[in-house]
Amino acid sequence: MTAPAFDIAVIGGGIVGLASARALLQRRPQLRLVLLEKERTLGAHQTGHNSGVLHSGIYYRPGSLRARLCVEGRDEMVAFCKSNGIRHEECGKLILATREEELPRLDALYERGVANGLTGIRRLGPPEIADVEPHARGLAAVHTPTTGIVDYGGVVRALAREIADLGGEIRTNGRVWDIRRGGATTTIETEQGPITVRAFVNCAGLYSDLVARMAGAEPDVQIIPFRGEYYLLRPSARRLVRGLIYPVPDPSLPFLGVHLTRMVGGDVEAGPNAVFAFAREGYSVWNVQAAEIIGSLRYRGLWRLAARWWRTAAYEYYRSFSKAEFVRSLQRLVPDLRPEDVFRHGAGVRAQAVTRTGELFDDFYVLPQDGAIHLLNAPSPAATASLAIGRHVAELSADAFSL
Ligand SMILES: Cc1cc2nc3c(=O)[nH]c(=O)nc-3n(C[C@H](O)[C@H](O)[C@H](O)COP(=O)(O)OP(=O)(O)OC[C@H]3O[C@@H](n4cnc5c(N)ncnc54)[C@H](O)[C@@H]3O)c2cc1C
Repeated sequence: MTAPAFDIAVIGGGIVGLASARALLQRRPQLRLVLLEKERTLGAHQTGHNSGVLHSGIYYRPGSLRARLCVEGRDEMVAFCKSNGIRHEECGKLILATREEELPRLDALYERGVANGLTGIRRLGPPEIADVEPHARGLAAVHTPTTGIVDYGGVVRALAREIADLGGEIRTNGRVWDIRRGGATTTIETEQGPITVRAFVNCAGLYSDLVARMAGAEPDVQIIPFRGEYYLLRPSARRLVRGLIYPVPDPSLPFLGVHLTRMVGGDVEAGPNAVFAFAREGYSVWNVQAAEIIGSLRYRGLWRLAARWWRTAAYEYYRSFSKAEFVRSLQRLVPDLRPEDVFRHGAGVRAQAVTRTGELFDDFYVLPQDGAIHLLNAPSPAATASLAIGRHVAELSADAFSL
């Protein structure tokens, strides 16, 4: 029997797959590693359609993988950007309570931030809010100075260069369509032909559950795609936003509520909302994949989720179609913003794992299998946390695959 061509394959060339490949190679420089990406370019999906925010780690349950890897990953990402000359800025963020009933939730967030070890976090009243964001209005706010903005496209390019320098191979246009396990060797069928490996890491984002199933795993979650639509502020309105202005989120949902985000290039984005998408890569309402919708509709977890959240879902669809309603959400944060100040500007699709009981999986989810590691839930803040997730994957791989 011939030896496998590679020690390890990483499936998926988003920021998490790239960071995992880099960490694996850093840990074991002799490793024969191949990264397989179905698109022509790297970072074409969630990574290339996100808000460009470096999250501080305030939102996540203390002790969870998300809380730990976000806080560690943020620091690592700042250092990585500095050493690679990638545009980033620690501009800070305001989370604004605009209604009385949000105040207890704001306090709970503040406590979470403290528990997660955030530095410099402050509770602000209206005068201090105006000092940080002169056009924002709120009853109270939490300010996290360690939140920032970053050029994730630059991070993707730098990671790809480093992987190549470390001897790894990146194959784009390399969609994986089947995986056959056999003893010490796994055969991965790709668009460019079969590849034999000892082990593999599945970082396929919106398709990670399907890739896991190809390999014979039976994950207890399914990826449900949630589109997040954006507006952009016209240049004349950018003066209304200095940094990042967010609402107090509903703690039972993993989405942060539509917010205002300054980008590294100077643009200011508004959004994203969260609507169920009719395709895993459904970047517009017209993008419909019948087989994928049927796959979602046949999943009992989706019906249980819908039974619980149908009012929220209906409102999200209404706001998706109504610019006036979208702007009303933003005006709660910045009352001077007018409908003519914004125009529609693209969308991203989040890969959200949903359990069979209809829960939105509330942490990163890493499922080890014999000869494989599957990342089955890596939603926000996985871009911020990517370097720490990569290290975590490399540590798990060293144990699981004796690499
Ligand atoms: C609208 C939106 C806003 C967000 N904002 C932020 C933010 O501001 N800050 C933050 O930290 N996080 C944010 N996130 C989350 C963050 O972008 C993601 O968590 C992160 O990019 C996930 O990276 P990934 O590599 O797991 O997935 P992806 O970037 O989706 O990469 C997965 C890759 O796998 C490839 N693939 C899939 N199937 C196959 C196959 N069969 N064969 C080969 N390749 C395959 C895909 O083509 C894709 O390139 C946001 C996400 C969205 C959608």
